[in-house]
Amino acid sequence: MRKWEDLVDTYLHKGLRKKLVEILKEKGISDVKVLEAIHAIPRHYFLDSAFDKIAYEDRAFPIAADQTISQPYTVAYQTQLLQIKKGEKVLEIGTGSMYQTTVLAAMGAQVFTIERQKQLFEQTPTFLFKEQYPTIQFFFGDGFEGLPLLAPFDKILITAAAPKIPEKLWAQLKVSGKMIIPLDESDAAQRMLRLTKKKDGSVKQEKFDTFSFVPMLEGKTQK
Ligand code: SAH
Repeated sequence: MRKWEDLVDTYLHKGLRKKLVEILKEKGISDVKVLEAIHAIPRHYFLDSAFDKIAYEDRAFPIAADQTISQPYTVAYQTQLLQIKKGEKVLEIGTGSMYQTTVLAAMGAQVFTIERQKQLFEQTPTFLFKEQYPTIQFFFGDGFEGLPLLAPFDKILITAAAPKIPEKLWAQLKVSGKMIIPLDESDAAQRMLRLTKKKDGSVKQEKFDTFSFVPMLEGKTQK
């Protein structure tokens, strides 16, 4: 985790971020609000200082507990599919570095985020943008369970490779709500799906590109 005194957003960082936004546009991200959020948020704040100079490459990087911060393209892609509107309640599974969480909050969502790795969850009190995004709520737990007491949600975003559609999460989605889920297709890849809950409770399924995520695992870690 970065120390406060290390946190400087230089012109170099800002310039690299602008370039990243251009790369994401070229790769097909067109939602201006998503691009604005990526442009606004210093991704290097969410990484160890060793990654300072490469933080704006369109790559995933290691974070604590053998996990990863998602590639910016993946963050932008999933966020674009979510079609976030201001004030919506969004449940994120896999807090990880808190970067995706912050992108959602920057777009005006009220974010509830769950992490199963204790080591990562224990970093959340040091969240840098607490004052800017006071509505984010962090939870330590198993994302397969969701947050039944806070349901229903307008949107649900899963940021780890799901072996199946988690039934309990589906139950926590509002009618007309959307779930973005990278679903295991083969050993190496996940198919990005957008599931919309129809009025009669049935599912409309849309298929998108394939990606590679760390696995969504049951239960939570003890340390
Ligand atoms: N959104 C994160 C992505 C982190 S990678 C970011 O941008 O940094 C996926 C994360 O999902 C990992 O931190 C992993 O520990 C977490 N995860 C995996 N299975 C989970 C589960 N069942 N519940 C909650 N978090 C889970």
